[in-house]
Amino acid sequence: MQDKQTVQAMLAQIGDFKNEPLTDFSQPDNAAAFEAALAKVRKQFGKKHPLVIGGKEIWPEATFDSINPAHPDQVVGVFSKAGKELAEQAIEAAAVAFETWSRTPTIERVAIILKTAALMRAHKHELSAWMVYEEGKNWVEADADTAEAIDFLEYYSRQMLKLELVEVYQAPGERDTLHYIPLGVGAVIPPWNFPAAIAVGISSSAIVAGNTIVFKPASDAPKIAWEYFQLLREAGLPDGVCNFLTGPGALAGETLVDHPKTRFISFTGSKEVGLRIHERAAKPQPGQIWIKRTILEMGGKDAVVVDETADLDAAANGIIVSAFGFQGQKCSAGSRAIIVADVYDALIEKILAQARQMLIIGDPDKRENYTGPVVSKNQYRTVLNYIEIGKGEGRLIYGGRALERDGYFIEPTIFADVAPDARIAQEEIFGPVLAIIKADDWKHAIAIANGTEFGLTGAYYSTDAERIAFARREFHVGNLYINRKCTAALVGIHPFGGFNMSGTDSKTGGPDYMLLFTQAKSIGEKLG
Ligand code: NDP
Repeated sequence: MQDKQTVQAMLAQIGDFKNEPLTDFSQPDNAAAFEAALAKVRKQFGKKHPLVIGGKEIWPEATFDSINPAHPDQVVGVFSKAGKELAEQAIEAAAVAFETWSRTPTIERVAIILKTAALMRAHKHELSAWMVYEEGKNWVEADADTAEAIDFLEYYSRQMLKLELVEVYQAPGERDTLHYIPLGVGAVIPPWNFPAAIAVGISSSAIVAGNTIVFKPASDAPKIAWEYFQLLREAGLPDGVCNFLTGPGALAGETLVDHPKTRFISFTGSKEVGLRIHERAAKPQPGQIWIKRTILEMGGKDAVVVDETADLDAAANGIIVSAFGFQGQKCSAGSRAIIVADVYDALIEKILAQARQMLIIGDPDKRENYTGPVVSKNQYRTVLNYIEIGKGEGRLIYGGRALERDGYFIEPTIFADVAPDARIAQEEIFGPVLAIIKADDWKHAIAIANGTEFGLTGAYYSTDAERIAFARREFHVGNLYINRKCTAALVGIHPFGGFNMSGTDSKTGGPDYMLLFTQAKSIGEKLG
């Protein structure tokens, strides 16, 4: 609880939220700075990293390697493998730190998170450079990921301050107030694919609200998480508020989910793991005195719909970028293109022309390359398996093979004439595979788009105002875009999160997100 004047003064001092600008790499200075960051991080490959529990570095014997998917023999970093016992210790440490952090004034918590944002801005290119090597992101994608991470730090700080200003009506003779207090200890479990943005977003929101956390990064992205954790420490985050715990999700992650002192779980990842967490968290454990809250953001099978009135060049570009940005490894990736029959063949020609021109494959640390590797051997096998399935379900019109070189490189792959209920049109592949589906007309196309268990993002290309109005109402996704790609949501502008099996309908980067990490306490005080 914080007096309102102090909060208002801080809000006035820090000013309005603004999105972090993206880097223009066509400027020689910017390109040179990024090259320098790549060279700098390369020299640091292979270092060993501890767990950090209650501020203490712990070096368990068991470790795992985080590798460069473009050159799997390059070890980007060596990380500690926590098991059940260490995961339990981390929850206990977070529970101890909660006693003081939950009572730390909001403005002090906000100051630390804003300092983290400033430090991240200062080290921006280094963080992005790690992403190029650890996840195979190209320059532009890595830069956007870091910018989004900075946005989350800035945005949630302001939203937390605004929550302090909420007013209620007053009963005669009373002083009536409403306060948003933290929940307790959270298990924060991000995926690897937005290793800065999502990891930073789902952890900093919890922390700035006064919760303490165990932060368990994805095993394919521990280095970015470590770099961010170092910035939190440098910014002055007290010991135990964020406990850094790497290790297998199925063991370390699950222990966090099950622990009776865990109050909430903030997870982003696959549907399978999300549903498992949902089920396990629902079961009260001996000694548990609350219902665990779960914030679960899961997969998508997102569609770009194009009708015969659309600008076909713009639509072709939107389809390619939505499907193949970061090798299709985005929950928002447009892995289905649904095109009305009238313009089906003409648009496919344009899609192929754009693909040939844009999708240059190669090492992501070279600026000219658009398409890098998929993130891991597992992902590589899964995607190649889906390509085989696709060969039986559609007409292969582009790509379809793995590259004969080291690294997990797969050609961007396009199948046409795919049935709406085919596996490659229903299941999340999470790789560079696009299914093109023919629709009878625009309404049929929107019905096909809605015909999966997911509901995350979607795009509709049309110039017809009535149809657009229909799509605004009936295209059932958490993030709908009209006449633009279905990826690249901006913090504060496009609050992000999906319906149905895409998650619990939370909206990251939106005005109500902080409510998920707080509980409201109403106080009525009789005066006189
Ligand atoms: P996973 O579900 O495989 O893993 C996500 C996280 O959960 C990782 O940290 C993982 O650890 C951990 N984990 C795995 N098993 C368990 C378990 N049993 N209990 C607790 N934690 C566990 O997803 P990916 O990392 O592969 O990410 C890709 C998925 O994320 C896609 O489905 C994508 O659509 C989705 N996603 C959704 C977004 C959204 O906003 N809706 C945004 C971005 C991605 P470990 O790595 O050690 O296995």
